Amino acid sequence: MNIPLSQPDIGKEEIKYVMKVLKTPFLSIGPMVKEFEMLFADYIGAKYAVAVSNGTAGLHLCIKSNDIGYGDEVITTPFSFISSANCCIFENAKPVFVDIDPKTLNIDHEKIEDAITSNTKAILPVHVFGHPCNMDEITGIARKYNLSVIEDSCEAIGAEYEGKKVGNLGTCGVFAFYPNKQMTTGEGGMIVTNDKNIAELCKSLRNQGRALDKQWLSHERLGYNYRVSEMNCALGIAQLKRIEEILNKREKVASAYNRKLKEIKKIKLPFVSDNIKVSRFVYVIQLKDCNKKYRDKVMEELEKCGVSCSNYFQPIHLQPFYRKMFGYKPGDYSISESIADTTIALPFNNKLKMKEIDYIVKCLTRILQ
Ligand SMILES: *Cc1c(COP(=O)(O)O)cnc(C)c1O
Repeated sequence: MNIPLSQPDIGKEEIKYVMKVLKTPFLSIGPMVKEFEMLFADYIGAKYAVAVSNGTAGLHLCIKSNDIGYGDEVITTPFSFISSANCCIFENAKPVFVDIDPKTLNIDHEKIEDAITSNTKAILPVHVFGHPCNMDEITGIARKYNLSVIEDSCEAIGAEYEGKKVGNLGTCGVFAFYPNKQMTTGEGGMIVTNDKNIAELCKSLRNQGRALDKQWLSHERLGYNYRVSEMNCALGIAQLKRIEEILNKREKVASAYNRKLKEIKKIKLPFVSDNIKVSRFVYVIQLKDCNKKYRDKVMEELEKCGVSCSNYFQPIHLQPFYRKMFGYKPGDYSISESIADTTIALPFNNKLKMKEIDYIVKCLTRILQ
């Protein structure tokens, strides 16, 4: 057997939508981007949505449009994908890390206030693996210190915190549509916000700093080409139309894993709080009482069985470039590090069959004996 870690779920409608675009002259800046934005804003319950070329570009524009720049600090988590911290560095701002809650794997809100300085401009919580952060506490702190909240919701489309969709709980939020995410546009991302100024600024910044209503070759500010093509947006529309089906399928796969793995004593299953609805991005288990060497060995054995797996995440502060730039070393964020050393992301996608899950569980059971 050869079981991939992730794969997209593309149906007939998706193919039809993309083909339709190819028969028109509008391959960029056409009707699809507008429709995708409208449907997405509606789905999240936000006033505005701005489609961009990828999630990282979306985060960058959120940093820019919140006026975060040289010397400013942004509080975020070291246990995430690299772009949630890189987006600050793009603008010469400093990501300031706060360690995580070992249960939810999200930023520990109780440690945020200690990290705030007179340079702090924003909090950038990441809903890791699709599990929402404690947003009441985070937005409460932000209000107290007059900070922006930029939600990295790239792994959490459709996740809910106390009945409300994530991405729309702070100043602005970002989603991503790379093929390993819950829904995909190939490459793509989306900014959502209720702030008209931020939405308009992001629309200008993604389009080379053009004014929204002026001539094509008039550039009002330093901008980028962070546009997304009509084909990508058509794919996104078709995926979004069946997002509930997609999320339900993923929940079913996660439940099957939970059921079949709960007897294995050495494994800790993914945690889910009761005041939230999780949107399953990946299925990540933790090995109890083990070190990195043993975890790596287990992963190696799984790969030998044809079971793809990954060590989500390697902490950002220990990435070579961060060590060099900021002088971070092992021990700086010990909870993130100890979690990172013991996690394994198992194959997880809508098309995973019961037979395959049984095989993966059988391999794991044998390896862990
Ligand atoms: C996927 C992801 C992003 C954005 O990724 P792109 O590949 O740029 O679309 C940002 N943050 C997190 C936490 C992610 O998982």
